[in-house]
Amino acid sequence: MSEWLLKGGRVIDPATERDEIADVHIADGVIAAIGKSLQGVGAELIDAQGAVIAPGFVDLHTHLREPGREDEETIASASAAAAAGGYTAICAMPNTDPVCDTSSVAEKVWALGRELGLVDVRVAGALSRGLEGAVMADIGEMARSAARVTMFTDDGHGVQDSLFARRTMEYLVAFDAIYAEHCEDAALAAGGQMNEGDRSAALGLRGIPAEAEELMAARDIALAKLTGCRLHLLHISTAGTVELVRRARAEGARITGEATPHHFTLTDAALETYDPLMKVNPPLRSDDDVAAVIRGLADGTIDAIATDHAPHAVEEKDQEFGYAPPGMLGLETAMALGITELVAAGHLDLPVLIELMSTRPARILGLDAQGSLEVGSAANVVVFDPVARWTVDASSLQSKSRNTPFHGREVTGRVMHTFFEGRPTVLDSKVLSEATT
Ligand SMILES: [Zn+2]
Repeated sequence: MSEWLLKGGRVIDPATERDEIADVHIADGVIAAIGKSLQGVGAELIDAQGAVIAPGFVDLHTHLREPGREDEETIASASAAAAAGGYTAICAMPNTDPVCDTSSVAEKVWALGRELGLVDVRVAGALSRGLEGAVMADIGEMARSAARVTMFTDDGHGVQDSLFARRTMEYLVAFDAIYAEHCEDAALAAGGQMNEGDRSAALGLRGIPAEAEELMAARDIALAKLTGCRLHLLHISTAGTVELVRRARAEGARITGEATPHHFTLTDAALETYDPLMKVNPPLRSDDDVAAVIRGLADGTIDAIATDHAPHAVEEKDQEFGYAPPGMLGLETAMALGITELVAAGHLDLPVLIELMSTRPARILGLDAQGSLEVGSAANVVVFDPVARWTVDASSLQSKSRNTPFHGREVTGRVMHTFFEGRPTVLDSKVLSEATT
């Protein structure tokens, strides 16, 4: 096992409230020491002056597409994309083919991730069989499996049947597992192409009202209070949902929430060109919604930045707006958008961004080995240049797909090195195809 000495970086660790210029010594897979002028005899030196050294990022919301659509993404390509983006753990959504609603699928995905060894691939199990919202999936088996599933969701669909939602929450309490909701009232959202408002009216596209998200969020909060179940709201996109979470949290509900980079970076004005790359679900929202999401991230109401990384084949995304599937890539641009749109824009500072991308999502998933640089803990580390400017180029992404709406956009903040369990997975911004030992 190799040793590494990261020299003279700004070490930011929200878990231990550390923020200082120091060296980090990685040995035997763990953080061996943090301090000034460390001597690592035999360790490989990395000059980290001017760079930030932080716990690796944890993505709560990744679509891997494997099994089923390996032409769009595989566990291998998503792992590489994650490492390139500074991630050391990702959580795979269950809407694959077959759906991850049994322990055998969950264990396969988890084990393949382990074998690749670029990032900890955690798995979210389905709430219902086939994501149909009617019959409970094998929740107990998945929770007890080798994959140790702690989060369950029918992401891609909101659970429409309130009684099913209640019964499932009651069942999840026994495992202290998380009920994660894609908040969308299907009847209200039916046929919608973008956010409902002045812009949808001007563009002549059918709208999805904010209420389609907020009604289900309010229902789930009520049911979480009733059952005592942990509730996580996926991709919060409206001002109303942020306010619901704020109030529920103040009342002591066990509720967490995430927001995506695209929902704090882009508004529904981006739809003016009818570019299918801007189509996403929940849709890009109004200026007021984006401002509210940013406030929610800055004041801690929203716990995590999650990518909703959703690869799509070119031939599917590149068709008339109404027919294109919703979703965009996220893993390789999330940190830079966070720095550009949140930190450089003055909404929050770097330690808060790292908390949102690493420490708090790690705690939500219960990943003890992630989200912290505590000495003695697993060395899951990202080193990034917080001021480097670069231009997003879809063709140079690790992902198998190309559907980023940020191609050609200049952003600030670049991942230099990523370490997963003490081994470099990215060095000098290049993904190592075979992890160095
Ligand atoms: Zn979703």
